[in-house]
Order: sequence, then C-alpha cells, then structure tokens
Amino acid sequence: MRSGKIRVLERAVAEAIAAGEVIDRPAAAVKELIENSLDAGARRVVVELEGGGVDLIRVIDDGQGMLPEELSGAFLPHATSKLTTLDDLLHLRTFGFRGEALSSIAAIARVTVVSRAGDAARAHSMTLDGGEIRGPSVTAGAVGTTLTARDLFHSVPARRAFLRSPRTEAAACVRVVAEAALSRPDVGYAVRSQGRRVLNCNPSGSLAATMAAVFGRDVATGLLEVGLTDGGVEVTGLIGRPESARASRQAMVEMVNGRRIHHRGMTAAISGAYRGILPADRFPVSVINLLVDPSLVDVNVHPTKREVRFRDEGLIFELVQRACWNALQGATVRAISLPAVASGGGGQAHAQALPTQFVESGAASEQTLIGPRAEPSLAEAAGWRYLGQAHNRYLLAETGSGLAIIDQHAAHEKVLYQSWLTELAGAAARPHPAQGLLVPILIERGPRLLTDALAAGLDLAALGFEVDVFGEQTIRCSAAPAGIRPEAVEGSLVELLEIASGGESEAGIRHHRLAASLACHSAVRFGDRMTQEQALGLLRDLASTPGGITCPHGRPAVLVLTDGHLLTAFHRR
Ligand code: ADP
Ligand code: MG
Repeated sequence: MRSGKIRVLERAVAEAIAAGEVIDRPAAAVKELIENSLDAGARRVVVELEGGGVDLIRVIDDGQGMLPEELSGAFLPHATSKLTTLDDLLHLRTFGFRGEALSSIAAIARVTVVSRAGDAARAHSMTLDGGEIRGPSVTAGAVGTTLTARDLFHSVPARRAFLRSPRTEAAACVRVVAEAALSRPDVGYAVRSQGRRVLNCNPSGSLAATMAAVFGRDVATGLLEVGLTDGGVEVTGLIGRPESARASRQAMVEMVNGRRIHHRGMTAAISGAYRGILPADRFPVSVINLLVDPSLVDVNVHPTKREVRFRDEGLIFELVQRACWNALQGATVRAISLPAVASGGGGQAHAQALPTQFVESGAASEQTLIGPRAEPSLAEAAGWRYLGQAHNRYLLAETGSGLAIIDQHAAHEKVLYQSWLTELAGAAARPHPAQGLLVPILIERGPRLLTDALAAGLDLAALGFEVDVFGEQTIRCSAAPAGIRPEAVEGSLVELLEIASGGESEAGIRHHRLAASLACHSAVRFGDRMTQEQALGLLRDLASTPGGITCPHGRPAVLVLTDGHLLTAFHRR
C-alpha cells in the first residue's frame, strides 16, 4: 500500500511540536516567565491568567528590561544572556540557562512583549505570531518587562487536547508562582485569574509570612525553624506543627540552593521525621532549602521537572531527617481546632480567593477556636471535676470555666508515651515491672530480628520483656511489660524489634518511635469501659504530663469548650 509522499515538516510546525515538549502546559510557561523576571532582578512580579492560562498569560515585572536589540534577539532558539561556558552549567546562579523558553513560548502562542531597560528613555514592543514578527517599535511603558502570551497551543492542537480543565490548569499556574514566592520571599508576587486576585505575597523577606499567604494563616503561628549544618551541607527552612498537617504532599516544598526541585528522598526524609507523630496519611507543611556546593548536585536530570540527584544521597537523607526531627523536638504541641460554630474569621477569605486545590478545604473550613492563648494549661487540669464517661470513649470534666472532653485512648497514650520515653532513656528509677505470660508467645520470625535489635541496644529486659531464641526460626516471649494488653503483646514486641533493628541512628528518633509504639499497645482503648477510679487516675496523670495536649500521633487528646465558646454557641452574647 502506498502512503502519501514523505514531506519535510513545515518548519513552524516542527518547531511548535518541539516547543510543546518543553512547554507542555500553561504552568510550564508561567514558570519560565517568572524565572526570567527573577533573573532580570525583579522585585515585584504580577501574573494574570485567563482560561487557566490557555487564553492568556501575562507576566509583568519591574526588572532590568531589554533594549530593542536584545528584545529581537531574545526569541531566537538558544538565545541566552546567561550561559557563556559549559562550566557555568554546574554553577547555576540564574534560573534560565538553556535559552529556549521564549522561543518555545513564541512557537506555541501569540506573544507580545513590551520592555524598557533601566537606562532607556522609552519602552519597545514586539509581537510574534506564528512565523510573523512585528517590531521592535517604540511604545509607552515603565521600566521592566511585560510579556503576554495568548492562545496557548493554538499551533499544537494535539497538546491542547491533553490539558485539564481551566480551573486545574490555573491551579497549577498558581502553584508555580507560590513555589517561586516560597523560594524568594523578598520578591513580591501576585496572581490574578479571570480578574480575581488568587494569590498575594508581599515582598516581606519573611518565609513565615509567605507560607501564611500560600498555605493559609492557620499554618503561620506554629512554624518550627529548621537549621542544621553538617558535612558541608546546610539545611534551612520552616516546618509545620503536626496539627497543621495536610491530607496530601501538596504543602511540602523542597529546594536546593533556592531552586525548587523534586526529590523523593528529601520528601521521604521530611515525612520520616514525623513518623509516630503523624498518621501515615497526613503530610506536614514544610519548606526546606538545602544549601550545597553546586558541583555535588546534578540539576539537569529532567529539563522541566527539575529532578535532581545528589552525589551522596544517603547523607542528604540523613541530614534532612535529623534537621526536621530536631525542630520537632523543640515543639510543644498545642492548639485544637474545632469545626466552626461561630461565623467570621479571617481564614475564610483566603480560602475563597484561591480557585485551586492548593488550599485544602479542611484547613479552610475549620477555625481555631482554641488558640494558643485560650489553651488550657494542663496544670489546670488538676482542678477539673470528673463528670463521667460517654460512649466508653470520652471522659467528660468540668473545668474552671468550661467543659473538657477527653479522648481516653489519646490521653492515656500521651501519658504512657512520656513514661516510656523516660524508661527508654534509662532515666527510670527501676526496670518496668514484668508480667509473666501463662503461655509463652512464639513468634515465627527468625532470631535475626532479635539479635539485630539487641545489637542496636534495645534493652528488652528493662522494658519488662523476657525474650529468648527458641529453635531455629522462632523467638519466644515469656513475660511482657505490665500494662500491655495481652492480645497486643505479640504485635507490640514485633514492632519494637523492627523499630530497633530498623537502622535509625538517631537515638531520639528511635526512642520516640519505640515509646509511641509501646504507648499505643498499652493504652486503654477507644471503647473500653473505665471505672471512676481509673478515669480520675488518668486525669491526674494527664495533668502532670508535660508537652501539650495531643497524643504522640498528633491527634488532639483534649478538647475544651470554654465559657466563651458555650456562650457564643447558645447565642447568649
Ligand atoms: P534563558 O532564560 O534560558 O536565558 P529565555 O528564552 O528564557 O532563555 O530568555 C532569553 C533571554 O531573554 C534571556 O537570557 C534574557 O536576556 C532575556 N529576557 C527574557 N525575559 C526577560 C525579562 N523578563 N526581563 C529581562 N530580560 C529578559
Ligand atoms: Mg529563561
């Protein structure tokens, strides 16, 4: 069968197809354009979007601008003012380095640029549409550059077919700008979509303020500072308290030398620091920047996704995790959020302004009713009057001026966690009382798990376990710590052995995980009936336990309805 004549693709078509690989969606164009603005020294960047960026992207900056001759050169493929030698590639100080962004955008969209260099008397304008170029011609304009791209992918309809809804594309664009803002809080950014302002980051220079603008105000109050220098690497940034965690990794942003990158190991290291503090399906809010010698990083693994590789991946993982863990150690957890009963509150406006999935609905629809100041001091809990148990799940108590509802499992877990921590640190007065098992438990896991855990320093005897190797494939447990529920002994022991032999080198992290596991297996369950005596004992212990009112998994253990909340809820004021 004869096919049609082979023709050389028309140049413009070929260029458009190639450009569509580089600029695969509006957000990719936004990213390149704002990076150009930053490279040009802009202090303020405004991005306007229509139709999710497909109909229009406009980026306005107050950077150094271009002279007319630079303007016409800027759109040639591989035109760049930034890379002169190959060696520069390894020491990327600027974002752009390939000189293909503007030519690619011009190949897939109708572009107008108006630019005025700092020392020029006038602005010049240039239009590129298909192969047709008009200008540069004199026009009015302030110092800086305004680039407008319309009708994206009009020349590559196939690419257009892959785009998602305008809403989703707009969200991706906002995300790109937000991430740029997080890497440069000293530059002001604003995004308008369909004429509505959806992001505004003032050039405050404060990462915390930018994180509040991007992730929501609730995040800003509880940020923990990360700072660690070791092995020639510096880890800096801010991470959120467990309470501000999200249901996705959307609010985890990693950078290397100020450049937004994607690196699974770093994400895993940050999440790992929260293990035991956050359930596996919750992710912290975090912005972490690594400062490393550029020659130890390969940034060009993927031209658009900015995936990187480090020469020593293990070192980076360890440092990031340790840095975050140290920061979390300093945190006393506080503040409980309740679903809003009262109306008003500033968090809402922010949430409505974003047409994106960038702000999570959970964070937006909740209001912190118990702020840091209204937080009940736990010392005060000593004076609480026990009222009773509800549904075998909650303890109810009257506080000085309100009502407390205590999640019995979480509260008990928290109390036990602290005492196990003390025991693990070897600071307890005597070994944990052991409780002989009527029938020893046989665990078919092979003695290797046990020997590894012992070699890693796990002192099972001090914790109340009596364990030995029983045959080739079996570990035998004949006594367990008093307090562990009988049916939980096996699971608890296996978990302990796995944590201890898991290779975590930081003793603090290891102890935290062990204590969280032991506490979980020995705490009264959600659903267990408690006697008045047990309940009073728990309230007393809770009052004397330091470190805030959440359980080791970051869930709140105590919810206090203050007099103020009650009066508001019953419309008495
Ligand atoms: P690159 O950024 O890799 O150099 P681009 O195609 O993105 O390549 O840009 C080409 C050139 O155009 C840049 O090197 C720069 O000189 C100039 N340029 C682009 N955008 C701007 C801007 N917003 N302000 C000033 N100059 C710009
Ligand atoms: Mg560029």
